[in-house]
Amino acid sequence: MPVRVIVIGGDEGYPSNMRSTSVVGEALDRLDQDDPAGLSDAELGAELVGLRRLLDAAEARWLRMLAAFDRRGAGAGAGAVTTGAWLRSACRMSPGAAAERVAVARRLEGMPVLAGALGAGEVSYPHARLIARAVEELAAVAGAGPAAAVEAPLVAAARVVDPCRLRREIEHARHAISPDSAVSEAERAHARRRLSVSETVDGVVVLDGVLDPEGGAVLLSALAPLAVPAGPDDGRTARQRRADGLVELCRRHLDRGDLPETGGERPHLTVLVDVETLERHRPARAAELAWAGPVCGETARRLACDASITRVITAGRSEPLDVGRRTRVVPPAIRTALAVRDGGCTFPGCDRPPVWTDAHHLQHWADGGPTSLNNLILLCRRHHRAVHEGAWRPRPRGRLPAPPRAA
Ligand SMILES: [Zn+2]
Ligand SMILES: [Zn+2]
Repeated sequence: MPVRVIVIGGDEGYPSNMRSTSVVGEALDRLDQDDPAGLSDAELGAELVGLRRLLDAAEARWLRMLAAFDRRGAGAGAGAVTTGAWLRSACRMSPGAAAERVAVARRLEGMPVLAGALGAGEVSYPHARLIARAVEELAAVAGAGPAAAVEAPLVAAARVVDPCRLRREIEHARHAISPDSAVSEAERAHARRRLSVSETVDGVVVLDGVLDPEGGAVLLSALAPLAVPAGPDDGRTARQRRADGLVELCRRHLDRGDLPETGGERPHLTVLVDVETLERHRPARAAELAWAGPVCGETARRLACDASITRVITAGRSEPLDVGRRTRVVPPAIRTALAVRDGGCTFPGCDRPPVWTDAHHLQHWADGGPTSLNNLILLCRRHHRAVHEGAWRPRPRGRLPAPPRAA
């Protein structure tokens, strides 16, 4: 009787005395003789495709062996509680990966078309995992017959599309076979929605979330036009542009003032800043943004460039003596004139329209600069930042008023 020795745990986790191990070793030795440096681009590409197929085919063989191992309960014979536990120890797999492989191996046994395609290297393991699970789920809700009928079409699709596209095909198949299960699947996706927004110790705000397909589509549709590059010199990454787009989206809603009131007020961005900070005295405290904490004085100057201002006169740091009315720094009439004169961001080559811009004071109002056409230019948020927090110095569009004569 042939005896197979499986050693579990420690450095002996991979059985070294097995026939298959030597076969793999020989195959790898042969493959190792190919030096990528000696191959043309086309040969290298063909090699990558060929090796990928080989890996997928090897995965199929591995899963077939695993199914047999699992059916015999060989893991228990080797001292493990389950096949998954044995895999974790013997093949150094994470718990999730081990459980998933066992589930796929069991499902593949009843799916000859899929198993054959994986064995031939025509579809990949991620394809097989998706199809096997979908067919099993459909069999549970619609019966084995209808579920089996989708296996072949899905395998055919998997031969030509990547797993992301295949997931869409599976949803179409699910909808065709069992509209009710498509509804409950949509409900499950909807229940998973969440968004966490947290301020970190280093002051940035971190977003992490999941949206259902509809929520994701709404977000991406709204973000797409706001995340396009601003001309050929836009050096931002796509992620940075999406981040800017999301902020822009929220800023516009704040600007329009049609969001519901909170605490008896329309929501708005609140910056607390000492006069000394605004006037660039040193030393001065940092400014503070509601919800996000301290920001540098220059950021406060930029935000104050084109905002409504409420002045609170205090005695010392904390005793308010008088609260002024909220006044708009740049009145609507001047804003309209600026839009006509500048036509958008005035940074050379920037194509952002007026609605995307702030009115920047060339000489800040905190330094005595007037809020007049001569002292204002339109800048998009990115280029406004480039002036305040960066080093770019814009040229005046009009003539600055002459300094007041000494008496
Ligand atoms: Zn400014
Ligand atoms: Zn710009």
